[in-house]
Amino acid sequence: MCGIVGYVGPRKAKNVLLDGLKRLEYRGYDSYGMAIGSDGLKVFKDEGEISKLESSIPTWDGHIGIGHTRWATCGRPSANNAHPFLDCTGRIALVHNGIIENHLALRRSLEAEGHVFTSDTDTEVLVHLMERHYRGDPHAALIDTLSEVKGTYAVAALVEGDDRIVAARKENPLVIGLGVGEQMIASDVTAIINYTNKVIYLMDGDSAIISSKGVKIYDRSGNEVRREPSIVTWTLEDAEKGGFEHYMLKEIYEQPVAIHNALLGSLDEIYAGAIMPDIDLSSVKLVACGTSYHAAMVGKYIIESMAQVPTTVEFASEYRYSPGTGENPFTVLVTQSGETADTLAAAREARRRGCRTLSITNVVGSSIARETDDVFYTNAGPEIGVAATKTYTTQLMAMYLLGLRLGTMRQTLDRSEVRRLSTELRTMPRYVSSVLDRASEIE
Ligand code: GLU
Repeated sequence: MCGIVGYVGPRKAKNVLLDGLKRLEYRGYDSYGMAIGSDGLKVFKDEGEISKLESSIPTWDGHIGIGHTRWATCGRPSANNAHPFLDCTGRIALVHNGIIENHLALRRSLEAEGHVFTSDTDTEVLVHLMERHYRGDPHAALIDTLSEVKGTYAVAALVEGDDRIVAARKENPLVIGLGVGEQMIASDVTAIINYTNKVIYLMDGDSAIISSKGVKIYDRSGNEVRREPSIVTWTLEDAEKGGFEHYMLKEIYEQPVAIHNALLGSLDEIYAGAIMPDIDLSSVKLVACGTSYHAAMVGKYIIESMAQVPTTVEFASEYRYSPGTGENPFTVLVTQSGETADTLAAAREARRRGCRTLSITNVVGSSIARETDDVFYTNAGPEIGVAATKTYTTQLMAMYLLGLRLGTMRQTLDRSEVRRLSTELRTMPRYVSSVLDRASEIE
């Protein structure tokens, strides 16, 4: 989950973007950046929270720009991996929320054509693809780009000297704010509600061309369509919670998307055997604290039934002080933040004992990801509510993925069983939605 904002109109774009990005920090805050059309295309990006670093952003006068606040899913948080990305000519800038599943193959083909990458993200392929397709029409270049992509996106791009922002969405939100002589685009109305309450929610598969004079919207088949504007009646405080009474409820409703993102890519990697190709599987130990410990307790049954391997669960705080038995089981460390002190200490202890380690975490580039041999990311996005909701259910998904992987390796699951279970997992977001749809009945 990341936050996107764009502006075109008479105001200084930098101020509108800054304002919007601060309001989108709940969607991601490991790094941020903006591109402004101001006497050429200017880009500023950095690692860290925007509210702490805003004074370092240069003052630019441009009146068109796109901005991004990131929650990494591919490539650790760093200034280089922050969005926006530029193409090789420095004339196209792009921000993205989502996951590009076929980015490795695309990257290889773009590099073979001579494109030079500056980051480890999946997103950067998009801007080089736009460069490949650009013939003076940014919207056409974006559509051609997206036709080559497998995955999910909300994306906005800007070409130097052009006074339009082009954007598109698939399975990630994007809303257009309609002003007088100015327009905005954002992941969420929160970012723009200070400027307008008249908005158009783009439908899945839509793309748009946004200029100060107006907005053109196209459906997934490329036909220009009319989408009725809505008037937002929420206060800013309500809007920050997406219209829900509190963050926890909002995050409960984000579970279908979070689960979808947790499964994205990983199922394919499991088929390809790309993770953990060579581990000793005589036993498994799951180590965690708090809610993650509860996910691990469920994980024990999943792994034992799918892979038929003896599995134990231990509190990280006990494990780090325990003497060990001299055996070195495959050890799985579970921590949402990737920074839980006891779990990190347990990871170090496990490695000291010579165990092969895997972490399950929600934060790309976190300490646990760096200190274990392999990592599964849960991709749930930031969780503001104190009680774990979507981060817990995505940990359960990671346990199923692990069970599938281990079951495949130990040949306790045959191909047809793996296929059946994978199909069930892919259906999980729909099952969760159907439960949430019955909320009032359940209440
Ligand atoms: N995949 C992109 C990245 O890691 C966007 C992340 C997201 O939207 O969550 O930079």
